[in-house]
Amino acid sequence: MILLWIVCMSVYLHCNDSRDSQKQSDAQNAGKGAHTVEAQVLIIEDEEEIGELISVYLRKEGIETVHVTTGENGLHALESKPFDLIVLDINLPGIDGFEFLQRIRKTKDMPVIIVSARNADEDLILGLGIGADDFVTKPFSPKILVARVRAHLRRFFHEQKTEPKTLRFGRYELDLEGHILRKEGVRISLPPKEFDVLRLLISARGTSMSPEQIYEKVWGMKYGEVATVAIHIQRLRKRIEDDPSHPRFIETIKGYGYRFNPETLKMER
Ligand code: CA
Repeated sequence: MILLWIVCMSVYLHCNDSRDSQKQSDAQNAGKGAHTVEAQVLIIEDEEEIGELISVYLRKEGIETVHVTTGENGLHALESKPFDLIVLDINLPGIDGFEFLQRIRKTKDMPVIIVSARNADEDLILGLGIGADDFVTKPFSPKILVARVRAHLRRFFHEQKTEPKTLRFGRYELDLEGHILRKEGVRISLPPKEFDVLRLLISARGTSMSPEQIYEKVWGMKYGEVATVAIHIQRLRKRIEDDPSHPRFIETIKGYGYRFNPETLKMER
């Protein structure tokens, strides 16, 4: 049944490819149309053809995709760049979709749409109970999946626009409107650039950032004294870490950069 569906969809896609390629290049030349969504979607699906199929449909909408075939590779992908939504298969080699979801929900809040051949109610309940936002049963109409992806992205982007006013971690509170750091209610001095670095790392929601990325965002320049980032991180650690040589909040990601430990974080809107 599933196999037949894949074959049918592939034939459909190939037949449409030649007609669509002109349309697609026209659309690309004209830039992103009114109906396209600028977003990054991670597809975790071990059946190559289905993953590619989903990819093709989302790309037609102007949505960028990364397709991986295992949960482990999905975890790596999430560490390397931010995604706005995940399309997740349940039956995967290695860690399955449920375990993947449980692991990422500790730190990530983007929408997750489960795509699975399993149709048992208990799967549905379990999937939603551990933080899936939607469930699409195989075989599915790609157009319906695309519509659901778009709907969840719209909601997610809308929520993100509502910036949190206060970020809490450990015994600290970062007041984003007042530009103030407090520890158990007591104000701690924090120079503007250190505030910006701290806010940037926290806002990355667990994604690692290289010193170059931090420098570019905080100092607004692509090239310059990137070493200044390490100095600011060092100063921040002295202010907020109990033991700056074993930081709990601002972690060093060896060979890459820094990340704010999302497990210590609470955002209030
Ligand atoms: Ca599968």
